[in-house]
Order: sequence, then structure tokens, then C-alpha cells
Amino acid sequence: MGAQINVTNSGIFSISDSKVISAAQHGLAVQALCPHTTEVVQRLQQAGHEAYIVGGSVRDLLLGKVPKDFDVATDATPEEVKIVFPRCLLIGRRFRLAHVRHRGVLVEVATFRGSGGHPSDERKHADGRILRDNVWGSLEEDARRRDFTINALFMDPVTGDIRDFVGGFQDLADRRLTLIGDPVTRYREDPVRLLRAARFVAKLGVEPAPETAEPIPELADLLDGIPPARLFEEVCKLFLTGHAARTLEALQRFRLTLALFPVLRQKGGSGKAEVTPLLREALLNTDQRVAGNQSVTPAFLYAALLWQPVNERAEKLRTSTDSDFQALQQAAEEIIYEQVQRTALPRRFSTVTREIWLMQHRLNKTRGRRAMRILHHPKFRAAYDFLLLRALEDSQWQDLADFWTKAQAEEQPESSPERKRPPRRRRRPRTRKTSNAG
Ligand code: ATP
Ligand code: MG
Repeated sequence: MGAQINVTNSGIFSISDSKVISAAQHGLAVQALCPHTTEVVQRLQQAGHEAYIVGGSVRDLLLGKVPKDFDVATDATPEEVKIVFPRCLLIGRRFRLAHVRHRGVLVEVATFRGSGGHPSDERKHADGRILRDNVWGSLEEDARRRDFTINALFMDPVTGDIRDFVGGFQDLADRRLTLIGDPVTRYREDPVRLLRAARFVAKLGVEPAPETAEPIPELADLLDGIPPARLFEEVCKLFLTGHAARTLEALQRFRLTLALFPVLRQKGGSGKAEVTPLLREALLNTDQRVAGNQSVTPAFLYAALLWQPVNERAEKLRTSTDSDFQALQQAAEEIIYEQVQRTALPRRFSTVTREIWLMQHRLNKTRGRRAMRILHHPKFRAAYDFLLLRALEDSQWQDLADFWTKAQAEEQPESSPERKRPPRRRRRPRTRKTSNAG
């Protein structure tokens, strides 16, 4: 779309196309739900700016879910936000925004973005400092450059009104996921939206509109062009936020799994990845842990995701190596290396992933005092949990799993009186091996 038309249109649309849904219609008492964000919005408004709560937080509130954070959109530039909140931090380069910490709560305040392609100084509040994607725009332009209609609702927590330029309110009511604008263009613009589609289908239980769903499989390969570090962040959002099992189903449905994890084997010619019972079980466990507020780590997730290719590779290497352990070690190296070309895995996690795999080998040894030392290994618990998953998948490991379950139980009475020692300060560099905590 031409830039000028865009600018001209925005004025017309904002009058004719914006819908206002009043508090009486949507029925949310927002002030009661997020007083700190409301205060941030109020302060910006009092300083003469337009400001709204926007994005996932409005969407989740309307769905009766608890938002994980609150985003604010405003016509104030980051510098103007800084005048209202002198202690806020201006962050990000690709996407500059202000982090306002208000009464201990972090609120992300972003300036309305335009679609780009026209000089930002045409906008009333532009400060002329255009940085990469940081092209300021109007409220309506900001709505239209968002990804899905249900993510483009702006709520004024003072009046309770919701502004809707793109039909998001109705889509939310119909549990429909619709990409704003021409789907292929928008996916090409930012292929991470392909993954976000799968994530929202899984997380929110919404059904994609046909035009939103159809292009996804053909465009899956575009993920190849996304920096691995960004894809790692997406993987964490996909799999470590409480709906991993459903997310994998959605990724499979949209033929995105192999684009994200190219080392996995394809199931026939289906375009889907082969999913082992171990992986499925690991994802269900992860979801349970998140639901129970237990910690989850990308290290264990990747261990489960890549275990099958690692085993397959080790099997091949065994013919050329004498030792099973060496074969496993080399396979682990190779598969991690291949995978991180697509989705990164920071070293602090990949070290643990590798350890979980290699410890499977050590867990086979159950005789003698030396074998028992593994119980004090800082990653024993993770390796043991992984063994339990393997036993669920293949009963030949059940006896071994039982052995280590018992070994821990027997270990406990001896070690527990030692807890009399004053508690250690948590966490020092990993070179200290003496601690049996964590
Ligand atoms: P959640 O916080 O549950 O992950 P969210 O929708 O809030 O979901 P964020 O990544 O926090 O997702 O992004 C906040 C908002 O920014 C989104 O609701 C959407 O309006 C916009 N947004 C995020 N990523 C994109 C993108 N890739 N393209 C266009 N708009 C985006
Ligand atoms: Mg969010």
C-alpha cells in the first residue's frame, strides 16, 4: 500500500472505522484489575498525551484470563514518556520503548507506530528521530501494524472505553484469530507471526480464520531467515508458558514443527515431525510444572525435543566408534550444533542439555560406591527425571528407573540430618561442586 494513501486513509478510517465499545458493553472493571497500569495511563493523559492499555493484556482480560503483563501505547515519544516518568528506562533498538517501573510493577510503554514508508515527521507528535522500525504513527496506524485483530484493542482504563479499528472485539467474541491486512504480506513482513498464530491457537483456544491459516504451511520456510536468538525466545514462549502440549499440536497442524526443529525426522511425507511418546510426555510434564509454579528450563526442553535425533545419530556413529559413550557424545555435539543454526540455545542451557543426555549413560552403572556418587551431581535430578520419561516410553528402562528411585530414598535419611548446617547463600559460580543444594 502506498505511503500517502496510508496517511490519507488513516484520517478517514479513524472517524468511520473505529468502534468504541463502552464499559457497559464489555463489562470489565479495569481499574480494579490493574491499578498501577491505570495510574501510568492516567499520568500520561494528565500530561496531555493519549494513552491506552493495549495488546495481550486487553485480550486476556476480555477472555477472563490473568494477563502476564500490561502494555501501554501512547502518542508520547519515548523522550516525552521520560519527562512524565523521569526514572523510566528507554530500551530496545529494533523497537524502542520505555520501561516504567511504577510501585514495583513493570509497565512497557510504547509509542504508536506507523506502518513505515512515509516520513514520520508528518505525524503530529513525531520527534523526528526515526530509528529503524521506530516510525511513529497515529493510534489507528498503530492498530493496523499489530499482528492479529484480537491483539489490537485499545482500552482507556479511565473511561473504560475500548477502541477497535480492526474488528478484534467481534473476533474475540467468536474466538477467531485473524491476521490484520493481507495475510501473506504480513507473514512475509515478519515470519515470527507464523509462530505467534500457532501460539495463540494453542494458548487461547481460538480458531484461525481460513485466510489466516491457509498460507502458513507454504510460508513455514521463511523462519529460516529469522535470527536464531529471536527464535529461541519464541521457543521459550511456545513451550515454557504452560501450554506446550497444545502448542506442539498447533505447530504440527500448521506444518511449522520441522521449520523450527529441522533436526527432527519427518513423519512420512506429511510435513509433520515425528513426535515420540517421550517428547509428548515431557511437554505434558512441563505444563504441569508451570501450572504448579515449579521451575522449567530450556535445557530440559531441548533434551526432550532432540533426544530422538541424538539417539539416531549415535546409532549411526556406533559403527565407526568403539565406545557407545563416545558415539553419544559426538551425536550430542552434532545435533545441538545443527539445531542452534535455527533456534539458538545459550551455552548455559546447552551444557545442561548435553549433561542430561550423557548422564543417561552413567545411570546405567549401578554397582559400587563410585556409581552412587552421581546422586550428588547437581544435575542428577534432571537426568533422573529424564530417565523416568524414557521408562514411560520404553519399559526396558523401568527397572533402572526404579533402582534410582530407591537409591534416592535410601540416601535421604543419611543426608537429611546434615541440614543442620547453616543454610548456604544461594548460587555462586558453578566451579563449586561441594554444594548438594539445587
Ligand atoms: P503474550 O504476552 O501472551 O505473549 P501478547 O499479544 O501480549 O501475548 P507480546 O509479544 O507481549 O504478545 O506483544 C504485545 C503486542 O504487540 C501484541 O499483542 C501485538 O499487538 C504486538 N505485537 C507483538 N509482536 C508482534 C509482531 N511480530 N507483529 C505485529 N505486532 C506484534
Ligand atoms: Mg504481552
